[in-house]
Amino acid sequence: MQVSARVRGVVGGADDGWGIYYRARAMQAAGQPVVMLTIGDHDIKMDPAIQAALTASMAAGNLGYAPISGSAALRGAIARRAGATPDQVIVTAGGQAALYAAMMAVLDPGCACIVLHPYYATYEQTVRAASGRPILVATRAEDGFQPDAAVIEAALTPDTRAILINTPNNPTGAVYTPERLAALAELCQRRDLWLISDEVYATQVWQGAHLSPRDLPGMADRCLVVQSLSKSHGMTGARLGWVLGPEAAIARLGDLAIATNYGIPGFVQDAGLWALEQGAAIEADITARYARRRRLALDALGNGPGFRVVPPQGAMYVMLDIRATGLSGKAFAEALLAREGIAVMPGESFGAAAAGHLRVALTVADDVLAEALGRLAGFAAAQV
Ligand code: PLP
Repeated sequence: MQVSARVRGVVGGADDGWGIYYRARAMQAAGQPVVMLTIGDHDIKMDPAIQAALTASMAAGNLGYAPISGSAALRGAIARRAGATPDQVIVTAGGQAALYAAMMAVLDPGCACIVLHPYYATYEQTVRAASGRPILVATRAEDGFQPDAAVIEAALTPDTRAILINTPNNPTGAVYTPERLAALAELCQRRDLWLISDEVYATQVWQGAHLSPRDLPGMADRCLVVQSLSKSHGMTGARLGWVLGPEAAIARLGDLAIATNYGIPGFVQDAGLWALEQGAAIEADITARYARRRRLALDALGNGPGFRVVPPQGAMYVMLDIRATGLSGKAFAEALLAREGIAVMPGESFGAAAAGHLRVALTVADDVLAEALGRLAGFAAAQV
């Protein structure tokens, strides 16, 4: 039996971009030492106090079906943070499900969504899973990987419904400037487009300040903000995120939720509510850790031959431009894994605009990170 063209087409090519990660995991399983600097999962796990809130909720009997769009208390807490109303929030299974819901909300089958690359590795799949068509537009290293409204406008087709952006950006670390966001907002209003804004790294800003385009004049009605507690609160495994948008769109996403998750576990929602009620305490702790590691990584790498560091303005990664070695990101990452036991993501996994780059996740202990990056720098120097 044949499965649908929709699910056959989700990945697109034969490679989903995670090959190095899978290989590194297999090496670890076979007992080989590997320093894992690939995916954006924290080394320090969900705060024990959040875990306690989760188990307390279970012990209190919150084990049945939960309100499908999210509990009133959690939607209220999220709304208060964003200066919105609870009806403008739907709780989802992490930021990824929020991305999918946002695409489903705005794309009719076959319609296009502008996707800026380098991008988070699931973006193309997410558009295709919603039966949409990604139109890839590059952001350029020479332009600090900022979005360029004129370049995006030139790529629009009559069936383009939305632009997907991500600030602070994974993998580039770019924090979009108010001017670039204002230009995007103007474009969306003039061409009647949705703006889907992935802000899962909003609490991790090292230079500049985070600005949600939803807060720009005239944008609240055409902006769907994707958020989650995965990065900000160390809750990747809890799968707790949300979409923030106009009430009418959020109501329709409630219909979609009936057909998909039928709600997020109530005890997970209670844990997330508890975490949000702590104010900035928990996220400040995680933010400080990545601020420290960013500094440490820049110091450990230095400015050796064979690579150039792209200092991140936000998020929990560092990009390296290794084009001076003459190797592709993929070839470099494979050789680094084989010879040094260090796993990093090839830039190519994040779209063509990141070719010849590497993405290093700052997700191991400080001393392990510094030692591995010193070896990475030495390896790069040996290639030129
Ligand atoms: N958006 C970006 C830019 C990400 O980097 C990630 C995860 O790495 C996600 C969304 C998905 O996050 P979540 O774990 O909340 O699904």
